[in-house]
Amino acid sequence: MERPHFTIKNRFQKRSELYQHILTRDILSDVCRRITSRRDYTVNFDDTGYNKGRLATLEYNGAINYISFSEFEIGSRNSFFQSFPSALVKYHQESNTHKNIFFYFLEPDGNIETAYFIFMYRLMKTAGTTFLNEADNLTTAINPFNSVSDIIVQRDLNRGRNRGNVSSYVTIDENDVLQIFGKTYGANKYETTLLCLAIHGITPYAMKLYEIQEGKLKRLPKDARDVIIDLGINVITSDLVLEREEFETNDSLRSPTYIYNLLEKLGEKKCSLCDCEIPQIIQGAHIWPVASIKRANNINLETKIKYAIDGDNGMWLCNNHHMLFDINMLYITHDGRLKYRSNIEQSHKEYLRDFTVNRRISNKILTPTFIDYLDKRNRMLVESQYSYVV
Ligand SMILES: [Zn+2]
Repeated sequence: MERPHFTIKNRFQKRSELYQHILTRDILSDVCRRITSRRDYTVNFDDTGYNKGRLATLEYNGAINYISFSEFEIGSRNSFFQSFPSALVKYHQESNTHKNIFFYFLEPDGNIETAYFIFMYRLMKTAGTTFLNEADNLTTAINPFNSVSDIIVQRDLNRGRNRGNVSSYVTIDENDVLQIFGKTYGANKYETTLLCLAIHGITPYAMKLYEIQEGKLKRLPKDARDVIIDLGINVITSDLVLEREEFETNDSLRSPTYIYNLLEKLGEKKCSLCDCEIPQIIQGAHIWPVASIKRANNINLETKIKYAIDGDNGMWLCNNHHMLFDINMLYITHDGRLKYRSNIEQSHKEYLRDFTVNRRISNKILTPTFIDYLDKRNRMLVESQYSYVV
């Protein structure tokens, strides 16, 4: 009977080193046993071309098994996982339909059960990964996510603990399209790829991925991008060309970078005035309106675009509050308090009072730069025509 056969992608340096220090015969035998129930195997090394990722394949009984091994380095946030998304991409590209993807812990040294690590493990399982030696290495049981909102809630908990750990965001737009905003530079690209592949399996919504430019890299690596597109996910690259086009043709500015910047500053969509959290009806509302920015004198186009996509030049508002704000029925004072136009009917005031829970803009929104934009807006209005809500 044919023996299980390993092919090892050689990012494990020299073969001798490999067998002595990293993937020892014992480890390969253990991996083989856990997947096939056999301990004996054959192995060859693939030194050609592709050399990214700690990846091996194990072929047996007509099935191909992809095995991603953990990195040793635990220090920086993504290094432990950095091989995994490219292994997952290879697995997706595999044409044999009898395929599986596994993750194997290689004697990790350090804390591998931080909130962020557990979040990543859960994403990996959601993307269809089986952990081969989980019980030997983790004290926590890892469960896949059941829903996208589950992912968002956990992500927010992480975000609270460690700001700056988050580079990608998930939300839903007014057309019921699930949007992923992800950066494409450095470690962020791994997280964005994993998030797309994990969410694809559990969401009933159509999906769009916005690649948010950072540094020189506009796009995800080609193979990851191709797999994402093959799954039917619409991929949109947000760069300055796109932002400029958007700015020049559209006053309401549905700029991906603007939404990304608001998500980064304020977190998930939630109306600043009524706390509504239904993402389909929440929008980014400009403080200094795009139409006014366009008309401003003595500012070059590049700077105007910068103002138009600045996360400080906005807040989340529901459809109703956004409309009321745009027609200047609402007024926000320099110190962030809310006023209504004085000349509206009493019954309308009562209605507004009842569904406007917050009478003051939160401190998170009210940064000095936000106040600068607010002053620019308010210069066009007459404060004495507005009164506080009582
Ligand atoms: Zn609202």
